Amino acid sequence: MTDSALRPYNFSAGPAAIPEPVLRRAAAEMLDWPFPDGRRSGMGVMEMSHRGEAFGIILQQALDDLRELLAIPDNFRILFMQGGGLAENAIVPLNLSHGEAASFVVTGGWSQKSHAEAGKFCQARLAANAAVQDASGATSYTHIPAPESWQLDAGSRYVHICSNETIHGVEFHQLPDLAALDCNAPLVVDFSSNVASRPMDWSKVGLAFGGAQKNLGPAGLTLVVVREDLLGQAMQHCPSAFDYTLVAKNNSMYNTPPTYGIYMAGLTFQWIKAQGGVAALEAQNIAKAQLLYDFLDSSSFFSNRVDKACRSRMNVPFFLADESRNADFLAGAQQRGLLQLKGHKSVGGMRASIYNAMPMAGVQALVDYLREFEAKHA
Ligand SMILES: *Cc1c(COP(=O)(O)O)cnc(C)c1O
Repeated sequence: MTDSALRPYNFSAGPAAIPEPVLRRAAAEMLDWPFPDGRRSGMGVMEMSHRGEAFGIILQQALDDLRELLAIPDNFRILFMQGGGLAENAIVPLNLSHGEAASFVVTGGWSQKSHAEAGKFCQARLAANAAVQDASGATSYTHIPAPESWQLDAGSRYVHICSNETIHGVEFHQLPDLAALDCNAPLVVDFSSNVASRPMDWSKVGLAFGGAQKNLGPAGLTLVVVREDLLGQAMQHCPSAFDYTLVAKNNSMYNTPPTYGIYMAGLTFQWIKAQGGVAALEAQNIAKAQLLYDFLDSSSFFSNRVDKACRSRMNVPFFLADESRNADFLAGAQQRGLLQLKGHKSVGGMRASIYNAMPMAGVQALVDYLREFEAKHA
């Protein structure tokens, strides 16, 4: 294995960098997972029955650690599922909508997809749409419409937001308080790309879901946190494996859960605890984001176009003033061990994803490179 000092910084939007101690621990336990009491299991985690003693311990530890880290109240159930964030765009309406109305706040590419998919299963209403068409017809998202301006349909079974738009770099720094807007519907939050990067105010939330591959572990695991009173409402044709009530009743083992993903997420939860928990990571994430945005704002060559009030701490899209140098920029970055900085195809430019696993030193190395590149080419 390479020495940690030689490992490049990985700015991928997802699947994204995993903390190195997590990878090392998984590597050490690959062939023979040890019980906490020191007994050897004689098996790797991928080879274990999900109903055996060893995996039972892994699952329970992961559930307990996650509940503690995110301060998830007792009246919420934690579900480990498959299908990713995109499948949840269908699974949520199948479980919550009764085929009736649901409202969507579209602030970027992901909530736009959620709104479109839900339309197959319910009456998907647009409560707000932040899309702006520029002169060339391209769509951009750079702001969050004020919650007071949202058109919240009285009959909506739920209101959907994406708390961090991974592609467009737009983040809710405060969850909306629907009750204060005279809306009794539960808030559904796609927190795929900022889960565990900051504390969560569960008093405002009915359900949150996210794929694991941004901040929690490998792709293939989907986290759902659902308030108990929202269970038991799935539509008749909801696939059994996607019925939250059945998944909850069977402690995420209605069918075989993504066992290795749960194990890796569990190791990540332990790593987060060792960092001082989610609040400590939030402080680091604020500092990392500020370092990068401050540089971008001070630069005449690089820029970020998102409103300062809702800039993402996790995903920072940016542009070169001279786009003909994009390929040059990426090649130089690669050479310095700054990987996967190319922007999403729908936005262009660059994107630096600086999730929990990205250390301050990685952001500093990026800013050093940006400064040097600007001095050479501006
Ligand atoms: C990555 C992502 C998704 C999609 O997740 P899949 O696992 O690819 O289905 C959905 N929402 C957000 C906010 C994401 O960042």
